[in-house]
Amino acid sequence: MMAQYLEIKARAEDALLFYRMGDFYELFFDDAVHAAAALDIALTKRGKHLGDDIPMCGVPVHASDSYLQQLIRSGFRVAVCEQMEDPAEAKKRGYKAVVKRDIVRLVTPGTLTEDSLLDARSANHLTAWAEIRGAGALAWIDMSTGDLTVTETSRAALGPSLARIAPKEVLIVEDMWEDDALAAQIRDAGAAVTPLSRASFDSQSSEARLKSFFRIDALDAFGAFTRPELSALGALLDYVELTQVGKAPLVKPPLREVPGGIMRIDAATRRNLELTRTLSGEKKGALLEAIDRTVTGAGARLLERRLSSPATDPSIIAKRAEAVEALVENPPLREALTEALRRAPEIERALTRLSLDRGGPRDLTALREGLRQAGALSATLTASLPADGPVDLLQAVEALAGHEDAVALLESALIVEPPLLARDGGYVAETYDAELDEARALRDQGRGVIASLQARYAEATGIASLKVKHNNVLGYFIETPAKHAERMMAPPLSEDFIHRQTMANAVRFTTVELSELETKILNAGGRALRIEQRIFAELCAAILDRAPEIGNAARALARVDVAAGLATLAADENWTRPEIAFDRDFVVRAGRHPVVERALRREGGGPFIANDCDLTADASLEEGGSPKPVWLLTGPNMAGKSTFLRQNALIAILAQMGAFVPASFARIGVVDQLFSRVGAADDLARGRSTFMVEMVETAAILNQAGPRALVILDEIGRGTATYDGLSIAWATLEHLHDVNDCRALFATHYHELTALAGRLDGLKNATVAVREWEGEIVFLHEVRDGAADRSYGVQVAKLAGLPAPVIARARDVLEALESSERDGGRAEALIDDLPLFSAPPPSAPTPKSAGPSAAEARLAQLNPDAMTPREALDALYELRAINRNPDESH
Ligand code: ATP
Repeated sequence: MMAQYLEIKARAEDALLFYRMGDFYELFFDDAVHAAAALDIALTKRGKHLGDDIPMCGVPVHASDSYLQQLIRSGFRVAVCEQMEDPAEAKKRGYKAVVKRDIVRLVTPGTLTEDSLLDARSANHLTAWAEIRGAGALAWIDMSTGDLTVTETSRAALGPSLARIAPKEVLIVEDMWEDDALAAQIRDAGAAVTPLSRASFDSQSSEARLKSFFRIDALDAFGAFTRPELSALGALLDYVELTQVGKAPLVKPPLREVPGGIMRIDAATRRNLELTRTLSGEKKGALLEAIDRTVTGAGARLLERRLSSPATDPSIIAKRAEAVEALVENPPLREALTEALRRAPEIERALTRLSLDRGGPRDLTALREGLRQAGALSATLTASLPADGPVDLLQAVEALAGHEDAVALLESALIVEPPLLARDGGYVAETYDAELDEARALRDQGRGVIASLQARYAEATGIASLKVKHNNVLGYFIETPAKHAERMMAPPLSEDFIHRQTMANAVRFTTVELSELETKILNAGGRALRIEQRIFAELCAAILDRAPEIGNAARALARVDVAAGLATLAADENWTRPEIAFDRDFVVRAGRHPVVERALRREGGGPFIANDCDLTADASLEEGGSPKPVWLLTGPNMAGKSTFLRQNALIAILAQMGAFVPASFARIGVVDQLFSRVGAADDLARGRSTFMVEMVETAAILNQAGPRALVILDEIGRGTATYDGLSIAWATLEHLHDVNDCRALFATHYHELTALAGRLDGLKNATVAVREWEGEIVFLHEVRDGAADRSYGVQVAKLAGLPAPVIARARDVLEALESSERDGGRAEALIDDLPLFSAPPPSAPTPKSAGPSAAEARLAQLNPDAMTPREALDALYELRAINRNPDESH
């Protein structure tokens, strides 16, 4: 067996080998050591190899999914090696024959198909990046659904593309792995990297591979692919076949994404805007979570895809928004659709599992239920939509209809709630197959006869407690309490009852009659099982025959779910359909931040204050007043600058993904690039300080932003000395205005910058209003024309609970700095004028934080455990007295 193990292990060197032995997957040698540590399970030993103990650990087959998931998450790949024959078969070859085993599958992060290993509401992408003579392409597949996409992607655009696709695993040519910059880009995407040989990426054999995979003679039907695209697609499919060990899952024809068809959003911007995950990596609190009202996994995945890839083609955006609008306007239809969708289980992933022979009866019933609901949705839509209704929904009607035959077949063939595994039978409905019914009847009759045997034997032996039982070792047997053993084993009873086993409290017997009956039952049961398995295979084949149509229905379901979800959101939150324009307008009236608004509501905070924004960039379109595409936003800390900046970026994204937006009106001239520099974070892992990260991101914006870009810059130049920061912010603002000539929102605490508005035509000063009231500030969160004169940083610091002496001292310093600036003095000179210590004047009360008070000091001396109740009461009086008159106590 070890020889067999080593031979198989040699074929899966980069993976942990799950070696099937009966009801367990066993791991040996280093695999066992690694797995035991990662899974926190016991490491044992078994036998010896070259004189040393062999480390071993194992996981039960029935619970292997959760262990697999843990191992994949910890970065391992797992090769699953199964027994390819019944151990009984092997025994026929001789006592020492080893059961045939082989690897049936390589489990890697990008090739998962089981529901238990997947997140129902997220896609699981495997991607391949290929580069041929400087031209690159990225292909990605969600193997669990068979969605395959390819697009041209230069090396420079690789990072942003990976951030959008969020792959779990990236395939590259092995020698590229040496390229540090490339490796860093891939690592940033958080994906596992799998280097493959050059041969996997060969574009010529890729073409052949694609043709044979899709069983077509020419690729023309799929569109024209560049060589790097072919190479990436070929590598992807090669790897799919490699990991599935020859089994090909259902894969839809590759979809070619046109470059420029999608709003470009780089990784930093995605992170900063918290589109699908928050900065800390959680889904909760991200935009996606706030807008997700879908009720199916497929709908949730499509919504994520749309949010990650907002369109730039106004006709595509209009098509999606039209569908949402139709459902906003028709609440009963929306509710009916949502109701039906709620009852529709996942069908795409079920279909994929069936295609890989990994499915069970429940995948078939999921398809039955899903397609049944598809029919219901189609009927509902047909009844409610006019012939000139939204194209998106009308197309869905077509794809959703016409599955009655498949539903009828599965309804007649399967019981309502079948077991998980096809292996054990018990899922085919009665009356579906006459032969099966007959076998089952025989088996069940046998069981009935056995039940009546018990009564007969009890009477014959006079032992009332005699039982006929069954277990996996003995099969059927007769059991009596141990005290009757002697009588049972002596004539005449011993003539009929054959002794099988003696237990502590019981003895077990069989009879010729019982054995015969058992054989009959077993034969009938075995026959029934074989028939069921045959029927299962037939049903799978029938369903897979219709895979393309079922795939279309699944996609239509997802589209309807997304439209209904976005419509529910728009109706519940009072959002509006934005106008999408070809020009460079950007007008938002009464815009809100979807996530902050939700958080305020949830926490019972005040209402969210809506704000307008107009970055219209084209002079010819502006009626009166000069167009101001760049806004310089100043205002106190905590006033809501960042919120305002982000909400406008999010509104652009929502508008272009085809959703409604949180505003009373919006007109968005298509944004083709979105950049945001918001907040700052160290990237120590990559050797970049906070300031360096900020500058790298700013450089990317200034170098790349074109006339249709939207740029959000929050507090540029913060992490360095004041004058350096101010100078950088100044020059950046000028460059954005003069060179990039794009729409931009720029928030800053450098109030000096507001003077630029006089010089730069397209720059408008805006501020977030606050009111001062009895020395405190009240945040109004209103964005108005004009500039702020100060930041109220000290007041905000006070609100945050900085110790009173620090606040008092800060006030002094601020005052001195400001008056020195007014008098034209230099800050350095002024330091000498400030009192060295900010000791309070003698008459001022002792600040609370200047050490423990007298009462606190006394309290600290008390030991409640050692006190009588009387002493405790005295101490309480004492403390009260000290507190009233602290000085006397000293
Ligand atoms: P800083 O300069 O300190 O970074 P900021 O001006 O960028 O501050 P934000 O972070 O945008 O301020 O907002 C601070 C808080 O104010 C938010 O967390 C939110 O709770 C609240 N807030 C912001 N905008 C609004 C609004 N329009 N309506 C209601 N509350 C708001």
